[in-house]
Amino acid sequence: MRRFWCASLALLALASFGCKGGGLPSKEKEIELGQQFAREYEQKLPDGPIITRGPEYERVQRVAAKLLPLARKDWDVPYTVKVVQSDQINAFAVPGGPIYFYTGLIRLTDSDDELASVLGHEISHITKRHSVKQMKKSQDMALALTALDALLKGGNTLKEGVGLIAGFKSLEFSRGDETQADEFGFKYLVGMNYKPEAMASFFNKMQAKTGGGGGGKLEQFLSSHPMTSKRIEAALRRAVNYRKGTYKAP
Ligand SMILES: [Zn+2]
Repeated sequence: MRRFWCASLALLALASFGCKGGGLPSKEKEIELGQQFAREYEQKLPDGPIITRGPEYERVQRVAAKLLPLARKDWDVPYTVKVVQSDQINAFAVPGGPIYFYTGLIRLTDSDDELASVLGHEISHITKRHSVKQMKKSQDMALALTALDALLKGGNTLKEGVGLIAGFKSLEFSRGDETQADEFGFKYLVGMNYKPEAMASFFNKMQAKTGGGGGGKLEQFLSSHPMTSKRIEAALRRAVNYRKGTYKAP
């Protein structure tokens, strides 16, 4: 798979992505890739319009303003958090900074603390560079990068854009990535004095929705972020340790 990835990158003339050593792209190239995805996503907006006002928008921006300075200490890229008007319970993070939150997910959070726990998790996928790490393994992403190549050469923007979006949407994080995103998300959560119990309480809500007919609205988010009892227990344990003063940040 790495060969395909590198071949695609060569097509992209992104030789400095660092394929020689089998490494990750440079920060600049990662940002460029994310910005390209963001442009295509916002041109298509497959799930609903982006909104820039209203209570959900205000809440997300308020929480983001607190968490993002912490994230920049770990990985300094141009973060943006945009709100998509859609009943889907979904959120996703794109390499190099862009994050999209759907109003369906925002409404499922009962407090800024819970919202901060989800946002912290999504931010951590960027700070820990999970997408670019997964991309190295993904055939779909290799194809998407070929589409991006065509796009950069002036191909059919809308058509090729579908390839890149599909490539991103097919990316699934590993269990290890999810655990790490929870660990760093928790660090950001308590780093800004949000309630440590909020992550576990939100996870419980997600799990209840899964069993209780969250249905298609949740499917996409859960397929990229599987909810397990283990994750919930780990979140509870972190909160208990934090209250006891025995929590150690990653
Ligand atoms: Zn995740």
